Amino acid sequence: MDFRLTPEQEQLADSVRRFAEKHLAPGALERAHKPDYPWQVSRLMAQQGLLGITIKEADGGQGGVLMDAVLAIEAIAASCPRSADVVQAGNFGPIRVLAEYGSDLHKKKFLSRLLAGEGVISVGMTEPEAGSAVTDLRTTAIPDKGGYRVRGSKIFVTHSAYADLVLTYVRFGEGVGGIGSVLIETKAIKRGKPSAFMSGEEWAELHFDDVFVPEEMVLLKEGGFKKQIAGFNVERIGNAARSLALGRYAFEQARQWALQRKQFGRLLCEFQGLQWKFADVKLKLDAAQLLLYRAAANADRGFPSAEETALAKLACNQAGFDAANEALQVMGGTGYSQGSLVEYCLRRCRGWMIAGGSLEMLKNRVAEGIFGRSFPQRPE
Ligand SMILES: Cc1cc2nc3c(=O)[nH]c(=O)nc-3n(C[C@H](O)[C@H](O)[C@H](O)COP(=O)(O)OP(=O)(O)OC[C@H]3O[C@@H](n4cnc5c(N)ncnc54)[C@H](O)[C@@H]3O)c2cc1C
Repeated sequence: MDFRLTPEQEQLADSVRRFAEKHLAPGALERAHKPDYPWQVSRLMAQQGLLGITIKEADGGQGGVLMDAVLAIEAIAASCPRSADVVQAGNFGPIRVLAEYGSDLHKKKFLSRLLAGEGVISVGMTEPEAGSAVTDLRTTAIPDKGGYRVRGSKIFVTHSAYADLVLTYVRFGEGVGGIGSVLIETKAIKRGKPSAFMSGEEWAELHFDDVFVPEEMVLLKEGGFKKQIAGFNVERIGNAARSLALGRYAFEQARQWALQRKQFGRLLCEFQGLQWKFADVKLKLDAAQLLLYRAAANADRGFPSAEETALAKLACNQAGFDAANEALQVMGGTGYSQGSLVEYCLRRCRGWMIAGGSLEMLKNRVAEGIFGRSFPQRPE
């Protein structure tokens, strides 16, 4: 066993870090406070080969492994926390599921635009009556001459206010076995008025009023739910990596602050009460990073295991939030003000404790592994 990165991984992380310091550190604060997608960053990252890192070269990607994409998130977030979302969108989210299960037509029609950083794809799972219990989803796909009519609505979907395409979870029939997914361009969807998450990112309700979806735009037919969720574990790794990376960003800001801010005639770093905060946070961040790297490295070119992903996401979501929260405390009024990115990191990290499988749902998953049995959450 070797806990060090390989020379190639070191090289990748260094070159992405240098790119981010040069091109993304300037403007990082403004970017964090804009509700829309950072399209300029997206195009720049495409040119730099940072979109499609884990997608096959034959499909227009870089042919790398999941760990490479995790390193890219860390290196980007160290200079610009908001830009880490572009790495997520171009590598970990529904784009990866599309690349894995999509037909040649899907790839030809959508993938090249997404990999060029010109468009973004959302995943629409959550509905007003189906949040944690996602298999309760009611959006239906009813057969209709050469395709399906999709009816229903989705909420809280990341990028929904400006995405071009939605990988939409739908119900072809009854039960979990009836769930699959279709690709729907947003021009066919009625979007509600944009709302904002606590992070400032905008989302819009998506309404499907009998939208016609031709047969060839089905991604996974009924019976596809397990495959979709297996792919969704990649999204969770990206969510975990961003939590950890934003926690580290905040930690670093607070560390530098404590090295130069004086009170009572002493530097903050000389107070033991604060030193112990830093030690506790470093312990959490490093421990979470090991779980994240284990899940990502073991996935190699495939999808990560559900249990390793759940543990990694739990640890990183909690560590990232705690790190940002303690960093804010160490920085006092400066940390609580919008002139510092620390309060932004705190708001972002809070959301990832809910998105992509809440902490509670992940603990349920871990408990099933511990006891070797399932615990149905529904009443008999
Ligand atoms: C920042 C952000 C981004 C998101 N992006 C997307 C996206 O791109 N696409 C998308 O489809 N959705 C997205 N979501 C929605 C997200 O998936 C849901 O918010 C999440 O699944 C929880 O559903 P809910 O909000 O309806 O809460 P509920 O399911 O109502 O849960 C409320 C609380 O009860 C807890 N709870 C529920 N059931 C159990 C149980 N069995 N055991 C223990 N505790 C339980 C939950 O953990 C939670 O704390 C996003 C959400 C956020 C916050």
